[in-house]
Amino acid sequence: MSVHSSAQSLRIDATTGLALRVRQVLTDHYDVRPAGVVPDLIIVHGISLPPAEFGGPWIDRLFTGSLPPDVHPYFAAMAAGRVSAHALIRRDGEIVQYVPFGERAWHAGRSEYLGRAACNDFSVGIELEGTDETAYEAAQYESLAALIRGLLAAYPTLSRERVVGHSDVAPGRKTDPGVAFEWERLRGSI
Ligand SMILES: [Zn+2]
Repeated sequence: MSVHSSAQSLRIDATTGLALRVRQVLTDHYDVRPAGVVPDLIIVHGISLPPAEFGGPWIDRLFTGSLPPDVHPYFAAMAAGRVSAHALIRRDGEIVQYVPFGERAWHAGRSEYLGRAACNDFSVGIELEGTDETAYEAAQYESLAALIRGLLAAYPTLSRERVVGHSDVAPGRKTDPGVAFEWERLRGSI
């Protein structure tokens, strides 16, 4: 018996790059990957807006370019930026997709993995709603594992050995998903 028997795999249509039966909030914050470049890295992030507050509409608004700069002091500096991730996993495990997985989302910024720069070119970016120090929810681990299994099935160039944190590809600049993220827990379920 598998201890992960309750966790299911998400189905992803590799033609459209869209996950089935997840909420889509599609954005124009993306472009095409460089010619001949396939996704072969999964990058896990953590995000909360405002910092350490959960449940608001602001992550959707950030990734769709409609974050109101005057709602919170923290938003003013972010509102002008054009960023995105392929998907977000909310505290209750809900998955939201912003960018088709085959396209290039704008999540890693200046980054390098094993000597190869510009990780957005060859990665899938998944945000977890959270902070570096707050324990992530069980529902988030389950949804993340289901999403990664779905990605591995849809994109054979991805692999379970190539799942890293934003802090791994932008050390010194980024710390997410943080010390709270339990890598062994994830690795045991994908
Ligand atoms: Zn990040």
